[in-house]
Amino acid sequence: MLLAIETSCDETGVALFSEDGKLISHLLYSQVAIHSPFGGIVPEIASRKQLEVLYPLIKELLKQNNIEISQLKAVAATFGPGLIGSLLVGVSLAKAISFALKIPLIAVDHLQAHLLAVFLEKEIEFPFIGLLVSGGHTALFLINSFFEFYVIGHTKDDAAGEAFDKVAKLLGLPYPGGPIISQLAEKGDPKAINLPRPLLEDKSLDFSFSGLKTAVLNYIKNHSYRVEDLCAGFEEAVCDVLVYKTFRAVDLFKVPRVVVAGGVAANKRLRQRFREKAFNTGVEIYFPSLEFCTDNAAMVGLLGYKQWQEKKYADLNTEAYARAVFKKLSIP
Ligand code: ATP
Ligand code: MG
Ligand code: FE
Repeated sequence: MLLAIETSCDETGVALFSEDGKLISHLLYSQVAIHSPFGGIVPEIASRKQLEVLYPLIKELLKQNNIEISQLKAVAATFGPGLIGSLLVGVSLAKAISFALKIPLIAVDHLQAHLLAVFLEKEIEFPFIGLLVSGGHTALFLINSFFEFYVIGHTKDDAAGEAFDKVAKLLGLPYPGGPIISQLAEKGDPKAINLPRPLLEDKSLDFSFSGLKTAVLNYIKNHSYRVEDLCAGFEEAVCDVLVYKTFRAVDLFKVPRVVVAGGVAANKRLRQRFREKAFNTGVEIYFPSLEFCTDNAAMVGLLGYKQWQEKKYADLNTEAYARAVFKKLSIP
């Protein structure tokens, strides 16, 4: 039995995997309601809440599955990137469990876990182009195996999810912005308000979303509008850029297989736009189910299990990290 722990941000996740790599069960505690009044995550509150919630959640998971803690054979945790205070809660407990039970400790990268979450439900072939669109990151990857990731493009400023959250705040909508903007956009006309498509003409695979947010701000100041149309126009601009750059990567690297992952991959319109483009170009397209797009421990357990099989272990000196670490690959 492998225990997986996710505490990189404001979600506490725990999962159990069997010795043949099957997800047995997972639990998630979200702090969204706590941070919502602040219009974003307050790191101090997030880490304190992680500390309060994590151990009881593990006990609950073990109890629900009739498992004694002594039956655990390995423990995996997200070591980064994320909020360091939140990460340390999961990492420290994982180290304590590993030390006390004398079982292997496995350090999982949160972004790699997002990109592989799709394997929880489907085996797909390598290599593939991975688009990670989450609250803290927006980047394109070439992924050759469970352990080989190359960044081929990334945002120069805000992440796509961050842009959804900031635009929601501008419109006086609650945090997180993604789900609510998406709901309103469904009732709007995506062509009514034309917003910029940042870096669309740029040859690189990089993104930029802070200018788009400023364009929304200027629009709000200078025009009257239907909020549904503004949400739809914003969502369409984000989708245009993400679809265009991802399929540019498909062409450049000649890899006809795409995985879209992270919280923004839960967006309905985005999924539809990617599916259409993939259908028209004969490219394979995959998304995790909605519950595995946003943060969860199941995806951490999936990669943790692969690392366990390969004996890719961490030790008590392995440190949590706040920032992403990936090898870069220039575009051909
Ligand atoms: P990271 O993984 O980069 O560290 P994170 O873990 O905070 O960041 P996730 O939990 O993967 O990010 O995703 C949260 C983000 O996803 C938020 O910015 C939220 O607004 C966005 N999001 C969630 N659902 C939707 C949706 N339906 N449409 C658009 N965005 C969404
Ligand atoms: Mg979150
Ligand atoms: Fe995440």
